[in-house]
Amino acid sequence: MASLLQYRRYALPFRTPLRTARGVWSVRQGVTVRWEDAAGGVGYGEAAPVPDFGGETVEKDVAALARLGNRPTAESVAALPTELGALRNALAEASSSARGEAPKAGSFPDYLPVAALLPAGREALARVGPAAEMGFRVFKWKVGVGDAGDEIALLDDLCAALPSGARLRLDANGAWDRRLAERWLERCAERPIEHVEQPCFAGASQGGALEAKSADLLLGLAGDYPTPLALDESLVNEGDIERWIGAGWPGVYVVKPLLLGDLAGALERLGAAKAKVVFSSALETALGARTALRAAFAWAAAKPGSAAALGFGVWPLFADDRFDGPRATPFFYWKDIERINPEATWTALT
Ligand code: MG
Repeated sequence: MASLLQYRRYALPFRTPLRTARGVWSVRQGVTVRWEDAAGGVGYGEAAPVPDFGGETVEKDVAALARLGNRPTAESVAALPTELGALRNALAEASSSARGEAPKAGSFPDYLPVAALLPAGREALARVGPAAEMGFRVFKWKVGVGDAGDEIALLDDLCAALPSGARLRLDANGAWDRRLAERWLERCAERPIEHVEQPCFAGASQGGALEAKSADLLLGLAGDYPTPLALDESLVNEGDIERWIGAGWPGVYVVKPLLLGDLAGALERLGAAKAKVVFSSALETALGARTALRAAFAWAAAKPGSAAALGFGVWPLFADDRFDGPRATPFFYWKDIERINPEATWTALT
């Protein structure tokens, strides 16, 4: 039981609005929570739901927090709707760190590689060289944003600009139909494409029939082309990970740790299935990023040598840099993750 639960809603403008297949996103909204337990332990968590990614919204999180009140019981927290995964994650993190549960220093890798995030469209070309110079060897490019013909033509220029041994990830954010996905995947074969993230997508909100058809399409594409595919938008609801493991998904699972209500349980199931996992930012503040990156380091510690580059090359991200996590560099060091001070983020929001 919490002797005091507090929360602060935030609206933080990005330094630069983000362009994705879903449109332009300019202000990050979320909630941070502070949990103080009866023994005086204090912990923090962050709920940062992603717009149009499942049904969770900041409004729903704030309404649920108002209903929980200042002194929620374990039962009332456990009874929160599973749909509010980000909020459940925030409360689980805050209460467990209030109890003093933290990863054991020394048992984790010293550092993990990070993927460089390239902007959509032609701008990506100008960014590859400087990022390669810094030492990045995995790059991620948003596609499905502009004209498909232009983007496909750019792919070869981009591949030619990569340093030797480097790999490119493509993220379509579900924007392609079957024909376009096939056209891209033909192009990707024999090119240094590490994976194609969410080529197509239909979610539960579009109806069960469309959702099932889209899942069949993804499984079919994964079987028909040599380039691995990755699921991201497909993994938004509680139970999705379980369902895709059951379906025998042969590709990658993009896990945004901060969106998972039962993060530990989800990672346990993925581990048991020997799944390939890429850990990814939900564009949270440093507070939430600490939770997410700790999960990524713990995963890598359990599977030495298998770590995919982290999808966390996002900072600097906010107009107010007090909310940023570690600046995007080719490697993130464990000691830099542990240096993140959740209390500082909480305080900066007053
Ligand atoms: Mg994605």
